[in-house]
Amino acid sequence: MTSRNLFSLLFDNLTDPVKTAIEMPDGGRISYGDLVANAGQVANHLVSRGVKPGDRVAVQVEKSVEALVLYLATVRAGAVFLPLNTAYTLNELEYFITDAEPSLIVCDPAKAEGIKPIAAKVGANIDTLGSNGKGSLSDGAARTKPDFTTVSRADGDLAAILYTSGTTGRSKGAMLTHDNLASNSHSLVSYWRFTSDDILIHALPIYHTHGLFVASNVTLFARATMIFLNRFDPEQVIGLMKRATVLMGVPTFYTRLLQSPALTKESTKQMRLFISGSAPLLADTHREWSARTGHAVLERYGMTETNMNTSNPYDGERVPGAVGLPLPGVSVRVTDPETGVPIKADEIGMIEVKGPNVFKGYWRMPEKTAAEFRPDGFFITGDLGKIDGKGYVHIVGRGKDLVISGGFNVYPKEVESEIDAISGVFESAVIGVAHADFGEGVTAVVVTDKKTQLDEAGVLRALDGRLAKFKMPKRVIFVDDLPRNAMGKVQKNVLRDQYAALYEKR
Ligand code: AMP
Repeated sequence: MTSRNLFSLLFDNLTDPVKTAIEMPDGGRISYGDLVANAGQVANHLVSRGVKPGDRVAVQVEKSVEALVLYLATVRAGAVFLPLNTAYTLNELEYFITDAEPSLIVCDPAKAEGIKPIAAKVGANIDTLGSNGKGSLSDGAARTKPDFTTVSRADGDLAAILYTSGTTGRSKGAMLTHDNLASNSHSLVSYWRFTSDDILIHALPIYHTHGLFVASNVTLFARATMIFLNRFDPEQVIGLMKRATVLMGVPTFYTRLLQSPALTKESTKQMRLFISGSAPLLADTHREWSARTGHAVLERYGMTETNMNTSNPYDGERVPGAVGLPLPGVSVRVTDPETGVPIKADEIGMIEVKGPNVFKGYWRMPEKTAAEFRPDGFFITGDLGKIDGKGYVHIVGRGKDLVISGGFNVYPKEVESEIDAISGVFESAVIGVAHADFGEGVTAVVVTDKKTQLDEAGVLRALDGRLAKFKMPKRVIFVDDLPRNAMGKVQKNVLRDQYAALYEKR
């Protein structure tokens, strides 16, 4: 049987090894041939450190080309790549490491001392890799040869485990197979028309599905080039648009780019595609972007467990506020959350997906896994939404963000859209807060455009008659910014904690 190792699918048949795969802002370049050779050296080093096929390699390092090579090398060696958010503390790392039991942990040199006792608990070795690409990993790899026979893998073997952000309960390790990653990237390459002429601006972190799989795998499968930036700097990104073709970003990239006067039709005219995902792109941001640049942002929807599910079309209408159509081979349906019975077009329910993109299950959590799949194989995403008459999927929020007030369901997105439409409002987040009479009180947290004077009464007046009484916010709170995580998602759990006592009787 031929190997289905993602690495083989990516790099066997390399016809142009001198083509640039990765470019650094300082002018450094790595060709496809170098990438394969470097991955060979790191894979040899991993084996010398005792990493066997199926072993987990846990990695908490800053973004660097060496870190990406480590991902490729781990997969090549038949091991399972386990990236961890650089923000995790030692306390949090202890959970991930004792749960995943990696045989090797790669961390920043500054963290190695602290991680030692945790590694000892599971008998893991430690290697280091700094943001400058230096450390015991690179030193060890430099002593090995580039030749490495890629370990044979089947479609269903694990390539990676990514822990979900776990805003409620324990974070879960999503097990992703070689075929989950390869099939999804292949779909995206053709759906988004990637070719070897493309130059992607890569400013996303690589511990998350977006920057690691969507951005990197798609670029490499297409034999395109990516400009690897360690962080997102709007002015630098606008400067690079002169010679790049695609940007993949989270919505905050787009709102921050819009704040720069340097963003114009002229500065974006070389670009062919702007993609957004990982959190909702406001319809207003979409429109403002079109007006300023002449480009319609292409919004797509995915999650750690499923890779990408839907995308607005390349040709055809890119609908503001919608996440597009199911990707080829992916089935999407909306069901009654209680019964799992599919519901009619335009009705809100639970989004469920099925396809080769959907993960194998949660690491060592068979019961949790079973509970989140329907008997016919559909995965229950936890996202509430609807499919409109044209087949476009719309997301109204996470199921756990649903507000139930006086026994009525209130979808935060609906209230947020009305509030966002009020002149002077920049954005808003609607949450449910414990309320003695209503169970939960609809509560609006609002950010103004900083130019307009708005108060609670003004917002409520503007909403009057636009929303049913039970959907009206009981309180409107003004803040400077909404709390967001690194992927730009509004952390409603943080807001719920902060305002938990809002309706308590004094
Ligand atoms: P993660 O696993 O961190 O990628 O988070 C996945 C979640 O992000 C999904 O379940 C959605 O709730 C949300 N998400 C991703 N893309 C979008 C999008 N385009 N619009 C709205 N929510 C999104």
